[in-house]
Amino acid sequence: MNDILIFGELSISNKLRPCVFQLLTKANHLKNKLNDSKLKLLVLCPNNSNFDEMNSELKCYNIDEIIFAINDNFKEFNSDYYCLCIKEIVQEINPKIFLIGGTNIGRTIAPMISNSLHTGLTADCIELDINDEKNLSATRPTFGGELMATIWSKTYPQMATVRENVFKLEKWEENDPHIIFKDYDFQEYKSKISLIKLIKREINSDLSNARIILSGGMGLKNKEGFTKLENLANIMGAQIGATRLAVEAGFASSNIQIGQTGQSVAADLYIAFGISGAIQHLCGIKNCKKIIAVNNDPNAPIFNHCDIGIVDDAFAIIKELEKLLLLKTV
Ligand SMILES: Cc1cc2nc3c(=O)[nH]c(=O)nc-3n(C[C@H](O)[C@H](O)[C@H](O)COP(=O)(O)OP(=O)(O)OC[C@H]3O[C@@H](n4cnc5c(N)ncnc54)[C@H](O)[C@@H]3O)c2cc1C
Repeated sequence: MNDILIFGELSISNKLRPCVFQLLTKANHLKNKLNDSKLKLLVLCPNNSNFDEMNSELKCYNIDEIIFAINDNFKEFNSDYYCLCIKEIVQEINPKIFLIGGTNIGRTIAPMISNSLHTGLTADCIELDINDEKNLSATRPTFGGELMATIWSKTYPQMATVRENVFKLEKWEENDPHIIFKDYDFQEYKSKISLIKLIKREINSDLSNARIILSGGMGLKNKEGFTKLENLANIMGAQIGATRLAVEAGFASSNIQIGQTGQSVAADLYIAFGISGAIQHLCGIKNCKKIIAVNNDPNAPIFNHCDIGIVDDAFAIIKELEKLLLLKTV
């Protein structure tokens, strides 16, 4: 019972989410520290899923076994269906460690599953390791982010949810995992289950896959400032993020907060408008490839952490970018 199981969450378009590959990367390091351990992946998917595409994406992650649990009820997220199936398969596999991405779905199902398995759960982790007793050691922020706590669970499987984008991807040599297709039948549960639809706001607020993020802070002054940023984002096909202060001031909604107590992002381009660059914000954007900062204070700390810094009024730059982009599309 030394195996590591990863939950292979699918996105709304039925593709494996980036957090799955990040967890697989970390799990390989954990596996190397355990004796005789196998790395397994569980994916819940509807019948029409593109299994070939998933298998080819998963080739370089040194996985020993992939279990595809198949049922058309997995076309949409439903916590009851998900938990019933996952619980049953976890009991069958009996892994030592079970890891789930800290997404909206992961954060919903993980406590339900740990409760039904009577095991502990360390939520929202930012680091994982194997301790001297060969158990999972899971680190997460605590006391509002003031301290880091490292937690060793005494119950099995040792479960953890892990924030998206905190582990960098690594690939291994191609291997040939054992693949199991398992048809799932929920007949007996149907009457108990009501469908929950993903609402549009949730999808748009998921910044983990966003390639371009325009983020606003207190420098945007008010809600209208964020509306201006949103207009620019629509033209650029970008998504919107915000600092905690901007959220607390009511300029933006809490589900787009970026940072230590918000989401961690890994965009190709992150543009910060009127953001000072507090450490709690910076830790959520450290995996972004290019960071551009616009701030009218030349001494703003964010200028020490960006690739391009623009000392100017945020609204002047938003207007200028809008003009340039609209000219390009005419
Ligand atoms: C435990 C804890 C957890 C936290 N978690 C988070 C978190 O998850 N995410 C987060 O973001 N913060 C978090 N914070 C808060 C964080 O410490 C900062 O207070 C916050 O990030 C600052 O937000 P801001 O940059 O929008 O505001 P400010 O620090 O007020 O900065 C506003 C900036 O806008 C500039 N500005 C003003 N007007 C203009 C203009 N017209 N044009 C251009 N620039 C302009 C100013 O020069 C200034 O640099 C946390 C704090 C604590 C204690």
